[in-house]
Amino acid sequence: MDRYTFAPHNGIWLKGNLHAHSTVSDGDLAPEVVLRGYRERGYDFFSLTDHNIYARYSFDGLVMIPGFELTCYLGGKRAHINFYQKGETALFTHGQEVLVTDDEETRRFIAAAKDHYLIMLNHPDWSRLEYRDVEGYDDFFALEVFNYGTEYHDRVGENAYFWDTGLRSGKRWWGLSTDDNHNGYTDSPGWPFEHLECDSFGGWVMVKAAARSQAAIIEALEKGHFYASSGPVIHDFFVEDGIAHVSCSEVSRIVFKGEEGNFVRRLGVGLTEFTAPLRRNKQYVRVECIDEQGRVAYSNPIFLQE
Ligand SMILES: [Zn+2]
Ligand SMILES: [Zn+2]
Repeated sequence: MDRYTFAPHNGIWLKGNLHAHSTVSDGDLAPEVVLRGYRERGYDFFSLTDHNIYARYSFDGLVMIPGFELTCYLGGKRAHINFYQKGETALFTHGQEVLVTDDEETRRFIAAAKDHYLIMLNHPDWSRLEYRDVEGYDDFFALEVFNYGTEYHDRVGENAYFWDTGLRSGKRWWGLSTDDNHNGYTDSPGWPFEHLECDSFGGWVMVKAAARSQAAIIEALEKGHFYASSGPVIHDFFVEDGIAHVSCSEVSRIVFKGEEGNFVRRLGVGLTEFTAPLRRNKQYVRVECIDEQGRVAYSNPIFLQE
């Protein structure tokens, strides 16, 4: 019997935002204000990823993942990638500026950092990337399937098509939802969390980790033991003998997606589970659960050929 699951049975679900800005770069709220806001709303872990500045924080009540957002060059285009520190080894000092100026330097930077950092491809649509721009890069552990800030403001935050293009081409990318919150920009008035333009709390990941620690969260991220969401909850998702199963919080659409584009979906009111054959999909399957407000939970792909 073939059985593939998307997360281990044991462990704890932890909620986190892995893309955020503060006054250290072009965000409009101080780091401690951002961190307090997320802690108060029940987040467990956080990475404050200011532009081109490595930072390491500790904050009571949040597991902090040191990280930064690097402005880089992919296929000659300016793009952004996020770095998440795996353990204690830091290649940079707190507050250090990091800089690359072309594709070649980007490659060298990635090669030097990849043993100690998980690297994510950020908001490809916002960056106007084509798949061919990133095809030659094999060190991204994930892409940002949903970036709330750019979706809410500019409607370019959903990257599911880009994700599937990569998966079909053999990339083993996990998918993250994040806020990329700036809470205003330095040339505009700040947007506190109650403001209409607040770009916090709209995209997150739920990680199934062995413990509430940086090491356990990084391990779960690396192995894909998480799902991305802007609302719905995925309780379980597995494939057994060619049949996909999902259980989730109440949604109105559930869609299984694989490399064949041979989608299988269920529509309804208050749906909490769906079971369906994979049809011709042999490479991978993932699921999207969408609620009445259009908010989406994206599972990671289950790869059917290990
Ligand atoms: Zn960015
Ligand atoms: Zn950003």
